[in-house]
Amino acid sequence: MLGPVTGLTVLELGAGIGRFTGPLAASAAGVTAVDFMANLIAENEATHGAACPHVTFRVGDATDLAVPPASFDVVFSNWLLMYLGDAECAKLAADALAWVKPGGTVFFRESCFRQSGDRARATNPTHYRDPRAYFSLFDGVEIAEPCGGYAHYELVSCRCVDTYVRLKQNQNQLCWKWRKVVTPERRPAEFRHFLDGQQYSTAGILKYERIFGDGFVSTGGAATTRDLCLGRLNLRPGEAVLDVGCGIGGGDFLMAHECGAVVRGLDLSVNMVLLAMQRAAAKGDARVRFEVADVMGADLEYGAFDVVYSRDTALHIPDKAALFARLFTVLKPGGRLLITDYCRAPGAPSPGFAAYIAQRGYDLRPVAEYGGLLSAAGFADVAAEDVTPAFEASLRAELARAAAGKAEFVAEFSEADYGEVVGGWEAKLGRVAGGEQKWGLFYATKPL
Ligand code: SAH
Repeated sequence: MLGPVTGLTVLELGAGIGRFTGPLAASAAGVTAVDFMANLIAENEATHGAACPHVTFRVGDATDLAVPPASFDVVFSNWLLMYLGDAECAKLAADALAWVKPGGTVFFRESCFRQSGDRARATNPTHYRDPRAYFSLFDGVEIAEPCGGYAHYELVSCRCVDTYVRLKQNQNQLCWKWRKVVTPERRPAEFRHFLDGQQYSTAGILKYERIFGDGFVSTGGAATTRDLCLGRLNLRPGEAVLDVGCGIGGGDFLMAHECGAVVRGLDLSVNMVLLAMQRAAAKGDARVRFEVADVMGADLEYGAFDVVYSRDTALHIPDKAALFARLFTVLKPGGRLLITDYCRAPGAPSPGFAAYIAQRGYDLRPVAEYGGLLSAAGFADVAAEDVTPAFEASLRAELARAAAGKAEFVAEFSEADYGEVVGGWEAKLGRVAGGEQKWGLFYATKPL
């Protein structure tokens, strides 16, 4: 999850007796292993010292450590922040940002939500935080760089530790990987915050789910997934799928349960992924993994997936050429790509449609242009289909579902929320009738 550390310098905080010191030292150019328990560091040194001359063992407190700025490629910790108070975490987050080089990595793994061990403990000073607490800690850090400019953390990925999911169905072990970014100006507004704060607040997501159906935040929910997409993809058991913009995971559970696929769901919204993780935990299914990451910055292996799948997500990503180039590289040769997305008629949108697009920060393209971009990215067998009639039918079915469940919806949310959803769906139907809002289905393959 950390990725290779070959040739890198690593500062390992809370190194203890060296469970990770050895593995890190195996490929790193240098490791500085720090712990405030002298006896643990002594044991670590006794175990690894002789075989690893490039490891420095140091007794020190991570919350009060003197480290020169920009002196490491990676700062690594495992089960450290959970033993620190909020103020100590905030200080360490700022310090670690100073200690890594620009472009460097800060990685930590923590137990979240609740205690994971099987033993009952009389006293437990540990902070089993909601993962959102770690996001707000690291998102809140910005420091001035000694040579000018400002540094902040950019999220690479947040996900569950795979072995805990596989062996224990435990989704409480989360790790974060952040990249240090230096900009000449103060940190720019981040799209992830825009998504989580606006369209995809948790309440907003649950409202959408009421309309789209359990587990879905996209047109037609399970029905279009089965009829339009899975029929087309012909997934085979064991195939590896990357779901880009997986939302709360309804499509992923379906691909795993009905087709036997192994799915990695990736989404930029923390609210979406935390809901997806909760549901995965309830289902106890280890074939589906979720991850908070921007598809454009995530660690994705070259040629790792049989299928790349993405439903009504690329509308959020303006640089479609770069997106498709990225998706092309992560597919195996012969791999399949399936995308549905909001599209538009060629020509300038009406003022109402333009305002809708701007308010949500969407980037919508005509169906044919979309197909052209896929071909330009190297895809073969590109099919770019205008499936607006299916969009219209889904919108009508969703409105009918909303009307049938109105009392429940209003009880859970409010009359105003109900009016807003229905108004939004009617506006989409109006734009469809006017011929300017379209829905596209795209299928393509990566040449062998
Ligand atoms: N595919 C899901 C969710 C669709 S909503 C479903 O069918 O139910 C669109 C999703 O795209 C949102 O969850 C949003 O957070 C996600 N998203 C937007 N930009 C993204 C990006 N750059 N990388 C990953 N996910 C992104």
